[in-house]
Amino acid sequence: MVKAMQKVIKNNWVIGNWKSNPSSLAQAKDLAKEITAINFDATNGQIMVMPTNLHLSSIVDEMKDSKVLVGCQDVSFTSATTGAYTGDCSAEQMQAIGAKWTLVGHSERRTYHQESDKQLIAKIENALKNDIGVVLCIGETLTEYEKNQTLNVLQKQLAILKEINELENNIDKLIVAYEPVWAIGTGKVPQVAEVENVHKNINEYLLTINTGLTKTPILYGGSVNADNVETFAKSDSIDGVLVGGASLVADKFATLAKTFFATKK
Ligand code: PEP
Repeated sequence: MVKAMQKVIKNNWVIGNWKSNPSSLAQAKDLAKEITAINFDATNGQIMVMPTNLHLSSIVDEMKDSKVLVGCQDVSFTSATTGAYTGDCSAEQMQAIGAKWTLVGHSERRTYHQESDKQLIAKIENALKNDIGVVLCIGETLTEYEKNQTLNVLQKQLAILKEINELENNIDKLIVAYEPVWAIGTGKVPQVAEVENVHKNINEYLLTINTGLTKTPILYGGSVNADNVETFAKSDSIDGVLVGGASLVADKFATLAKTFFATKK
């Protein structure tokens, strides 16, 4: 099966970010096997999983005959190709292994690795140069949320797209994931109306950067699970979900994905 990225579906993305889970390759393969079995219409929705780099190659192999895409959680900012960069994995290497997309700017990387805008810009350029799509994660902290700074914070995080030379020729290789930092892994979620307002604002701001970005899928992420996913799926302004914890239990992730797709029909 050819897993081409050419046709980017605007709606219906269900992406599982496995982070540094599970603890063994055998467990990761079991999870992949079960997710591979999820029956979904790939012309109307897309499931993607993002394993840890350590398991990436095996999971690509495990899923090669399925409709599920495999992405990575990060690419190196230091080099798009190869070089003396100990510990880094370059976009060229990710591409060669079979990763179709990468996360960039996840709040855990911004927090634990103090990733700067300059680094994020380099990562996006490196990914796009190597035909890897970018899921750009943005989100405000609880303090920023409480101070009503959300929209300003998000616009500042999105503004890096103005610096991306590769964007013009790769306009369909961008997904934006709005993930309030205070909702990630906490069980707390914003009201759907709040997410809708934010997504509307993201969409408007993207258009000021490049009118081609009108088609950019805008996902919500943060404590999405099989029980609350329908609420998000019902909103026309939510084109998909980025899921952490709930993507690690195959049957729950399957229910979540199926519910999302069925609600969007
Ligand atoms: C995430 O880390 O991208 C995420 C959304 O995590 P969780 O679903 O566990 O909140």
